[in-house]
Amino acid sequence: MDGFESNEGVILVAATNRPDVLDPALLRPGRFDRRVVVDRPDVKGREAILKVHTKKIPLGDDVDLSVLARGTPGMAGADLANLVNEAALNAARQNRKVVMQIDFEQSKDKVLMGAERKSLVMSDKEKRTTAYHEAGHALVAALIPNSDQVHKVTIIPRGMALGLTQQLPIDDKLSYDKEQLEARLAILMAGRIADEMFSNQKSTGAGNDIERATDLARKMVCEWGMSELGPMSFGQKEEQIFLGREIAQHRDYSEATAIRIDEQVRRFVQYGYDVAKGIIEENRQALINIAETLLVREVLDGEEVNRIIREGVVLSATGKATASPDDGHTQQVLRPEGGRRLPGLEGERPQPA
Ligand code: ZN
Repeated sequence: MDGFESNEGVILVAATNRPDVLDPALLRPGRFDRRVVVDRPDVKGREAILKVHTKKIPLGDDVDLSVLARGTPGMAGADLANLVNEAALNAARQNRKVVMQIDFEQSKDKVLMGAERKSLVMSDKEKRTTAYHEAGHALVAALIPNSDQVHKVTIIPRGMALGLTQQLPIDDKLSYDKEQLEARLAILMAGRIADEMFSNQKSTGAGNDIERATDLARKMVCEWGMSELGPMSFGQKEEQIFLGREIAQHRDYSEATAIRIDEQVRRFVQYGYDVAKGIIEENRQALINIAETLLVREVLDGEEVNRIIREGVVLSATGKATASPDDGHTQQVLRPEGGRRLPGLEGERPQPA
């Protein structure tokens, strides 16, 4: 972790995805203009790191570093070095001259269980939930009209998120029309829908998606005049970063208008949810294929996502296409749940229609 000055302002570089280990005073809003979080290695990166760390260690014939790399999602270089070290100690304790796969497996368990935070290293269940969640975003982003191309989808934890689906960032474009923003809302809601349909649980990732969708819908209503309330701007914005809030809204409208604004925001979010749900229901197998490929590969680029959808296949670690998993396989994965919608949006947030 290191802070330095640049002409852009003060930047905090954290070689960790655990902001919790940093002094909270350091992270107080306004102290740093930007945070840069160093990515954790993907499965290929981890295999390369393991190769480096095992170079000087006599390995048994049964050791397969690619298997080990696949079983250590979320581990950074230091974790992997630690894992190799523990495995060597394990072999030494058994008076063995070579380090065997079992040593690595035992050391992996020790490192995993010894990890202070579970979220640092994903459990199989978290990995699966994240894969289906991100596959939801990726599928809808790839199929919905008026959307930016999928750039990359990953289930390697980074920052505060367990996974990520990247498109061209919205801020880089000069302007977006209403249809593009509606597509964006649907893509944001797709993660939650995938959680509901495939994982039977709410993920924190979806919480962030819903917050972003609600913010976006509010801007469409209050700043960009895209709702039935017409081309009016509601609420003056004021930057109050020093108070720890990014933007404070000054209300310049009545309570009755506030209710109508909420209603319009709700409609936009609900519309996004419905559109995304339709796409996912129609392309259920494609979502499963993306998720199952993600579980093996961890990172997919946009072309690979399109190929999975187009050809109806699951890609292997080497990019070879195989047939979709049959129902027997997917049934074990899926616990579909009907009826429950938008659990995170109860209360003042949009209710299912
Ligand atoms: Zn998400």
